[in-house]
Amino acid sequence: MKAHIVSLGCPKNLTDTERLMGQLAQEGYDFTDNPKEADLILVNTCAFLTSAKDESLQTVRRLAEFKRRGRCRYLIVAGCLPQRYKTECNALLPEADAFIGTPGKFEEHGSQSAEHRTQGIIKATPPWFAYVKISEGCDNRCAYCVIPKIRGKLRHRSPEAILKEVKFLAQVGVKEIIYIAQDTTAYPYLAILLKKTAKIKNIEWIRIMYAYPSHITDELLKVMAEERKIVKYLDLPIQHASDKILELMGRRYKRHDLENLIIKIRRIVPGIVLRTSVIAGFPGESETEFAELMAFIKKVKFHHLGVFTYSREAGTPANKMRGQVSARLKLERRDKLMRLQAGIAREINKDMIGQIITTIIEGSTRGGFSGRACFDAPEIDGAVLVRTKKFLKPGEIVNVRVTDARTYDLIGCLT
Ligand code: SF4
Repeated sequence: MKAHIVSLGCPKNLTDTERLMGQLAQEGYDFTDNPKEADLILVNTCAFLTSAKDESLQTVRRLAEFKRRGRCRYLIVAGCLPQRYKTECNALLPEADAFIGTPGKFEEHGSQSAEHRTQGIIKATPPWFAYVKISEGCDNRCAYCVIPKIRGKLRHRSPEAILKEVKFLAQVGVKEIIYIAQDTTAYPYLAILLKKTAKIKNIEWIRIMYAYPSHITDELLKVMAEERKIVKYLDLPIQHASDKILELMGRRYKRHDLENLIIKIRRIVPGIVLRTSVIAGFPGESETEFAELMAFIKKVKFHHLGVFTYSREAGTPANKMRGQVSARLKLERRDKLMRLQAGIAREINKDMIGQIITTIIEGSTRGGFSGRACFDAPEIDGAVLVRTKKFLKPGEIVNVRVTDARTYDLIGCLT
């Protein structure tokens, strides 16, 4: 029996996909990239935003074709879509045979997750890195976000279950562990978990994504500074920088707190690379608040910036707020932010010429190899192009001297 798996959405969803693949492997399924060959098709969906819901529906409907005409006997829809639209699912997707929501009791899910790793190498990422989820759900109530409704309240995995999983991943060749959650800094044992992870043989890089700003402790920053294996990189989604908008969003900090936090992070972890994401066009964002956000981005100079246009989501407080911003203006503001960031990124990258950066090789390209610096997360950040005639293996970590810079990527040669 063969299964074809499609995982939509973010890395957090991908870890659920890996768990589902583990369960299918236990049932005796092999996996195929070709839906024509599959007896079972499983789509792990995203429904965080309306656009993600539409993509999920389209994907399932497209794959339903293989059930009508091909060999597929079961079409299964999992994840955020059935969880968010429990009652509408049957009507939306009559082609589906079963719907599975998001993980329930997380500690149970956590141990299953570690077990699926040890009972067969089930990984949906390249062999050299793995996402490891440390908690599920979220206790924040950001006014624009449906995640707490979909994923429920925050529950943690035990450090023992996480470390067991990481040790197994290290044994099968994973070099980079990326800790993820809806809010990683809400994990109460994060500093100790990082310290213990750094002791695991063969793990070379440890990365933390989705750090909620006001939950970052001095203890965490000190561990980041002390442990060589923890990459000097932090993903710090600020969402906005105007006090008025932050309050409307229900974020638990003000612009001043962010300024102080960033100064502190840079003092305790010198040379750290910061990534952030912001929302353009949240209700109530007039030219004044948008100018505040632009000024903040200009001043702080994040190395990486993701900009999203605000999406009105049913069931969230922001959906009903006054002062909704037009679609055109949202896009205009997003583009302004992206243009500003392109200039900042170009400047930062130019300053790196001559420096030596640690890079993990991920593939080959014309004239050499492509890789990712320790300050680049997979898929969302930049790339490093390594010019060499030498053969480099994917997953190999090398030192690269930067010789040239593009807006988001770097070019260099082996030292
Ligand atoms: S921190 Fe806010 S944006 Fe992130 S998942 Fe929780 S509620 Fe949503």
